[in-house]
Amino acid sequence: MSYNRVVAIQNLNHAFGKGELRKPVLFDVDLDIFVGEIVIMTGPSGSGKTTLLTLIGGLRSIQSGRVNILGQELYGASKNQLVKVRNQIGFIFQSHNLLSCLTVEQNVRMSLRLHQDIDFEQRNTMTKDILEAVGLGDRVNFYPDSLSGGQKQRVAIARALVSQPQLVLADEPTAALDSKSGRNVVEIMQQLAKEQGCTILLVTHDNRILDIADRIIHMEDGRLAKDTALVNQ
Ligand code: ADP
Ligand code: MG
Repeated sequence: MSYNRVVAIQNLNHAFGKGELRKPVLFDVDLDIFVGEIVIMTGPSGSGKTTLLTLIGGLRSIQSGRVNILGQELYGASKNQLVKVRNQIGFIFQSHNLLSCLTVEQNVRMSLRLHQDIDFEQRNTMTKDILEAVGLGDRVNFYPDSLSGGQKQRVAIARALVSQPQLVLADEPTAALDSKSGRNVVEIMQQLAKEQGCTILLVTHDNRILDIADRIIHMEDGRLAKDTALVNQ
């Protein structure tokens, strides 16, 4: 790997809308996240956390600032370059976004479809292994509607991690879960990340999971607080 910072952001600004409706939502954001770190981002609703996550994930174009993700500068990047970056990122959202017409196994397997270097047999093995790892080895042929909220979110985690992404972006992944299932899914994420050596940026309001972080950052009114607390050391 030719970089040690998975995320390197300088002077990122972002606004929605144009003209009189223009509304700036991110101001001079600087953020570095190093290989293997688990970083939790907290902050009030509307402070810009999701916007920042979507910019980091290459899901929105950068208006101004330097945003280097996995060695790729996103400002001015081509569509192809953005797709390449996105393929190395696992996304986990608040609502699991599983396809209800596909089984658990098919939902997970689908996120390998863009990885042409992985052959059919490997895909089966990787899918089975990750579903075992999240404790759903006995649910592979179930449909999402027959699973509990916590189980669905574990499928979403499996789907995000099956391709062994370098970076996982998780936006309030426990928001729809009770505290026990919430704890359970982040512990699975933490364990898999440590095993695979991937980096995690996780947005949460859930104070009960803050201890899984190596570092906590705080967003307020579109600005990242400079003082970041180190935990677990
Ligand atoms: P958070 O995730 O911290 O709750 P968001 O990043 O979703 O915050 O939103 C930050 C601000 O940007 C809010 O004021 C929100 O209303 C606004 N916003 C978010 N997405 C859009 C959009 N697609 N169009 C216009 N405004 C948006
Ligand atoms: Mg949000």
